[in-house]
Amino acid sequence: MKIAIDGPASAGKSTISKKVAQALHYTYLDTGAMYRAATYLALKLGLDLNDASKISEHLAQAKIDFQPGPDNTQQVLLNGVDITATIRSEQITGAVSQVAALPEVRQTLVAQQRKIAAAKDIVMDGRDIGTTVLPDADVKIFMTASVAQRAQRRYLENTQKGMTSSLAEIKKDIELRDYKDSHRQVSPLKQASDAVLVDTSNLDIEQVTQKILAIIRQ
Ligand code: C5P
Repeated sequence: MKIAIDGPASAGKSTISKKVAQALHYTYLDTGAMYRAATYLALKLGLDLNDASKISEHLAQAKIDFQPGPDNTQQVLLNGVDITATIRSEQITGAVSQVAALPEVRQTLVAQQRKIAAAKDIVMDGRDIGTTVLPDADVKIFMTASVAQRAQRRYLENTQKGMTSSLAEIKKDIELRDYKDSHRQVSPLKQASDAVLVDTSNLDIEQVTQKILAIIRQ
């Protein structure tokens, strides 16, 4: 089965998708990490973030890999180098929506995502999985939560990691990223017409996981 989980920033998609994949013994793919890796690559090489062809040229030659890390985490490798923590930095988070809006970059990464999903049971999370990457997915979920809830969750997570952004800054970043992601020309963030809406505002991680597993097993 192919499971597509989309939704706005910090709705809990990756945490839940990972748990759902574990419960079903499916592969999990965090497509946001691939756009973050592309952004990291562009910044590291000093490329103009509007230069779609230069970025995708380098991206096509780069190798993005995922491997299991400690405590059920998933490590992201770019050309063999572990970039898991680096791609969560404020700098990458602030620039990723600009890079993700470039059509050539999306074309390159969507092709890689489809290849990874081929002939495999998979849970894939992102913004355009149900609409574009896997339009024939067996189950599509659109996961959301109020912006206040999402900012609060991200704030707690960041504080634990020693990051210093205020709650107000995080809320502003989430709103801006959602705006950019849902207003870009190619594959904007949007609920697929056949996706099930899951609002996680008043649910904890376990409740959301169980709710989604129940939808999948229906
Ligand atoms: O999921 P995450 O917040 O890590 O995604 C980072 C960014 O990558 C999003 O804000 C969006 O700009 C981009 N993205 C995308 N399409 C996806 C997954 C992520 O455009 N399928």
